[in-house]
Amino acid sequence: MDARQVGDIEDEVQAWVDTNWDESITLREWWRRLAAAGYAYPRWPAGVGGISGSGATARAVTAVLARNGVIGPPVGYVAATLAAPTILEHGTDHQIRELVWPIASGQASWCQLFSEPGSGSDLASVGTRAVRDRDEWVVTGQKVWNSAADRADFGMLLARTDPDQPKHLGITYFAIDMHQPGVEARPLRQMNGTSSFCEVFLSEARVPAEMVVGELNGGWKVAQTTLAAERSSVAGGATPGLHQAQSGSTGDLDLTVGDIVERSRQAAKVRRSVIRSNAVPAKVMLDMARRYGKSTDPVARQDLARYITHVRVNGWTMRRIAAAGGCLTGADGSVAKITTSRICQESRDLSYRIVGAAGMLMGPESPLAGELQLACLGSPGTRIGGGTDEIQMNVLAERALGLPREPSSDKDVPYRDLKVGTQRSL
Ligand SMILES: Cc1cc2nc3c(=O)[nH]c(=O)nc-3n(C[C@H](O)[C@H](O)[C@H](O)COP(=O)(O)OP(=O)(O)OC[C@H]3O[C@@H](n4cnc5c(N)ncnc54)[C@H](O)[C@@H]3O)c2cc1C
Repeated sequence: MDARQVGDIEDEVQAWVDTNWDESITLREWWRRLAAAGYAYPRWPAGVGGISGSGATARAVTAVLARNGVIGPPVGYVAATLAAPTILEHGTDHQIRELVWPIASGQASWCQLFSEPGSGSDLASVGTRAVRDRDEWVVTGQKVWNSAADRADFGMLLARTDPDQPKHLGITYFAIDMHQPGVEARPLRQMNGTSSFCEVFLSEARVPAEMVVGELNGGWKVAQTTLAAERSSVAGGATPGLHQAQSGSTGDLDLTVGDIVERSRQAAKVRRSVIRSNAVPAKVMLDMARRYGKSTDPVARQDLARYITHVRVNGWTMRRIAAAGGCLTGADGSVAKITTSRICQESRDLSYRIVGAAGMLMGPESPLAGELQLACLGSPGTRIGGGTDEIQMNVLAERALGLPREPSSDKDVPYRDLKVGTQRSL
């Protein structure tokens, strides 16, 4: 796209914002307007929140929205980043209409119901069962580590539909309504004191047959799309200038956009976080080293130089991946995830060497007003969520470097005969 076309789009979006942004309307109405205009997710098809635009178009739209300081498009936890791309690629027309529009217009939030107590890295060993009952599927089992499952309206569910097939072949991908008696999401408490994910118990929960995404028993292939989107989403993040609001039935839909913008301004006055994705930015790390008298310590200086180099190189890698549209190495999401998670671990270790015992403190007088400790406690999660570093290395080895696949002794064995994962009596 040339500069003139970008300019045209920017003018169009600016004219649209001038007409449609009104601080007295509800968030529900703002997001409906944004999706109907195709500016919620410009790359998605028309009619479900987009205009089938290119990456350059999407960036131009976002830039104008950010310049105007409006509320950004609804995210819905993993609705826009994971569920929508998966449904757009594998869903029926009916599913795209029924499931993607509510994401684009902010009415629905989603969670990911993949992991189980015995099935994380070995995701293909999921043991949650789905059994057909006329025009529905009846689902029973347990999921775990499901982010925001207690607040989500829908779940991306992997369940076993044919235990007589090898483990990768008998799995089906469902879109499950979380608001039903057979679904219980229990929040889990993390070591940083927050509770961002749940264990989910499915007890004869129901899914209409039309909510099978992709082929029956073909869920593994569909899940690959979700997992690829998850790895790639590491490189994303909030756009500066856009205000954030919560979508879905437990969100902010009935507040006015004016109230939400005011809330966001007040929150920024009280607490403007300097930490980015559980890592201390290079400049903040340097300031901290000066403050704690470590900027003249030769060992700390070496570590600082190494850290700053890694942060810079990582930033360039992310930009190269974005510029290549995610086609740089064949495993761009894994590269992004591994390098980002390494920076988090490095940030944790170096910042604690700098602040020493003060790192044990919380409260306004502690390093970065307590945020440092929260980031340190959150840092191991970046090595695990969305697939562990070791699994990302496997993906990188096989898909980017062309190394032989990891040996697997159970590839052709019917799931029923395996003694792995959460295998129960089926
Ligand atoms: C912050 C966070 C958010 C999450 N959100 C969700 C969510 O929303 N939905 C969801 O379904 N799940 C979610 N998870 C779960 C996550 O996907 C799993 O924790 C992850 O896949 C690892 O599985 P596991 O915990 O069972 O560990 P295991 O699979 O038991 O792994 C244990 C260790 O063994 C290593 N290992 C395992 N297999 C191999 C191998 N083949 N080669 C080399 N090393 C190996 C792993 O790398 C790891 O170090 C989340 C996790 C975190 C931390």
